[in-house]
Amino acid sequence: METQKEEDFVKPTFDPHSIEPELIQKIAYDALVWSSLHGLVVGERNSQRSGKVPGVAMVHAPFALLPMSFPESHWKQACEAAPIFNELVDRVSLDANFLQDSLSRTKKVDEFTSRLLDIHSKMLEMDKKEDIRLGLHRSDYMLDEQTKLLLQIELNTISSSFPGLSCLVSELHRMLLHQFREHLLLDPERVPRNNAVNGFAEVLAKAWTEYNNPRTVIMVVVQPEERNIGREAVAVIYFRAGYAPTDYPSELEWRARLLMEQSIAIKCPSISYHLAGTKKIQQELAKPGALERFLENKDDIAKVRKCFAGLWSLDDTHIMKDAIKRPGLYVMKPQREGGGNNIYGDDVKETILRLQRAGNEEDAAYILMQRIFPAVSPAILMRDGVSHRDQTISELGVYGAYLRNKERVIVNDNCGYLMRTKVSSSNEGGVAAGFAVLDSIYLV
Ligand code: ADP
Ligand code: MG
Ligand code: MG
Repeated sequence: METQKEEDFVKPTFDPHSIEPELIQKIAYDALVWSSLHGLVVGERNSQRSGKVPGVAMVHAPFALLPMSFPESHWKQACEAAPIFNELVDRVSLDANFLQDSLSRTKKVDEFTSRLLDIHSKMLEMDKKEDIRLGLHRSDYMLDEQTKLLLQIELNTISSSFPGLSCLVSELHRMLLHQFREHLLLDPERVPRNNAVNGFAEVLAKAWTEYNNPRTVIMVVVQPEERNIGREAVAVIYFRAGYAPTDYPSELEWRARLLMEQSIAIKCPSISYHLAGTKKIQQELAKPGALERFLENKDDIAKVRKCFAGLWSLDDTHIMKDAIKRPGLYVMKPQREGGGNNIYGDDVKETILRLQRAGNEEDAAYILMQRIFPAVSPAILMRDGVSHRDQTISELGVYGAYLRNKERVIVNDNCGYLMRTKVSSSNEGGVAAGFAVLDSIYLV
């Protein structure tokens, strides 16, 4: 068998729908076997025992059969922006007045944000300082088709999901392109290696080292019933939960969060990092002159600003008028994480009109954002062992890791990526919610 030379990989973009059904079956079969062998699996939703008994009722994670084409220049842009966003979060987190002032109206109408701000206020009263600061972030983008701009959807500072599975999907795609190179003529090396999971683990370990007490542990706060604060001394607390109101069913959880924040453990994220990742702060940072408050380097400011889509607060009457007239061009977002919370289309108009009629301050719970329209591409989506052809849009997330101890920045890197591809007709498709699949990128 002859091996392909670099020049033989001729196709800059290719249409997976043009692949013969028999070949799809073969690729899908190998992909499913690989997924089972390498742990590209999740709990089977329909099984009662899934999630309760380890190793029982697993199914392959939903994934795209082949990687999605993505322009190399935009990929580089997203990677370069990651350390700047890390630094920005750190600077914003230190500006207590900016956080409190920006969220002051939201606080009045959003109970969850208000509780987070209360913890933040208590830390200010205590004059609590976080010397060692750890951020494991993910900045998400869509590539706007018309303007060809890579625009930020949001910046996650808490519980950035899928560092583990995203690495596996990249590996799966590299394997498939290698295995079927004679048929597909795609270069496996054009799927960037993904080190998100090792990168995150390494930085967690470095944070633990920085804490400098070998008798301590790293604690991970998880859903749904983790209330155990442990009998061991904790060096690092990683929040895989705590970002949603449902993670705090009673006062007990709020007390636990406060206790953790008061402790000298390194928090990932601290309450300030958590607040810096809210949609309201994203919108405030997009205002003219806001970035200059936190970053000095002009190039850095330009790189960050270039990623900002239109973002507005709902007291902007001019934009409100337009959003009522053309609601399809906007997305309305409350201060929530985890998907499924945004408002689209005619609901944008209805909600604005309702808020205006109410005439109270409830509008402060939301921000308004320009709707981004990525190019629609054909893809083959694998779910429950079955392949589906679909027209899709994609969202690229680039992970960022940040660790500093006082003035010493120990880590500030981009750290792997997550591509999510969803059926183009769905407004908001979480992978867990069943609309999106995990994907990787093929650089073109
Ligand atoms: P969450 O923190 O809940 O993930 P996001 O801001 O990421 O909130 O919104 C969830 C999803 O909604 C995104 O993954 C994306 O599919 C869609 N979405 C969000 N903002 C926009 C936008 N401005 N244009 C188009 N789609 C968007
Ligand atoms: Mg989010
Ligand atoms: Mg998101």
